Amino acid sequence: MKVLKFGGTSVGSPENMRAVMDIITDGEQKIVVLSAMSGTTNALVEISNLLWKKNRETAGMSIGKLEANYKSVVDSLFERSENKEAGLKVIDTSFGTIKSFNSGKFTQTGENTILAQGELISTQLFALLMKEMGHDVKLLPALDFMKIDEDKAADSNFIRQNIARVLEATGDATYYITQGYICRNAEDEIDNLQRGGSDYTASLIGAAIKAEEIQIWTDIDGFHNNDPRYVENTRKIDQLSFFEAAELAYFGAKILHPQTVFPARVENIPVRLKNTMNPSDSGTLITS
Ligand code: ASP
Ligand code: MG
Repeated sequence: MKVLKFGGTSVGSPENMRAVMDIITDGEQKIVVLSAMSGTTNALVEISNLLWKKNRETAGMSIGKLEANYKSVVDSLFERSENKEAGLKVIDTSFGTIKSFNSGKFTQTGENTILAQGELISTQLFALLMKEMGHDVKLLPALDFMKIDEDKAADSNFIRQNIARVLEATGDATYYITQGYICRNAEDEIDNLQRGGSDYTASLIGAAIKAEEIQIWTDIDGFHNNDPRYVENTRKIDQLSFFEAAELAYFGAKILHPQTVFPARVENIPVRLKNTMNPSDSGTLITS
């Protein structure tokens, strides 16, 4: 089985979500890891900052603005009225949770719970969309198997045992959808794998199930020989070793979360970087 991760831009609009659906629905069984829709985690960080400062009025306005955006996403994402309703229920639940923190004492767990809503929303909406289009899809709740320990390091043993358990309990499906980034910590509270952590989720899952390949789908063709945001005429690199990719990511290549390569390297699973906007490009292949 392959594990495919799609980043925030890839699921950043109804149109892009449909493009992702086209890419993944080839009939092969797979696990699909999704980020929050682009801009969402930044907005949730801002909302949390306002809540820390007890700036309740501005927080309320920011929450309302984000909620309104999501309502219009739901409206254009689904055809059938029962799916629009189900989508709105997802939005209601998540924003109900977010709003519940706009009173009383704010805590780190409160912040982490707010930050988790982006991935919880994107995966539920995407799974609903796939169902509407007749695909055989099931959600895997990442909070039931992704775990970090007291040192905030990924607990690979826990993840391996529990993803197997969750897959078994969920039952057969062609497409499994799960949340990137979010996890539980040693206290069993909601936590996360730090910004950009969805890549790391995909690699941890890939290693845990000994996937055939881990694919990281983003909005660029792969690793380039320089940062295309600052340097003109860069070119894509076709192949890298685990070590080279880890080093580039560590020193700031934004395409990959710096820890992504390690779980894949331990199990010797190829990591392929691919472009959602240009799926026929072979991307960058990272191997031993
Ligand atoms: N949504 C999270 C972030 O924006 C995780 C991710 O996208 O990888 O950092
Ligand atoms: Mg990213």
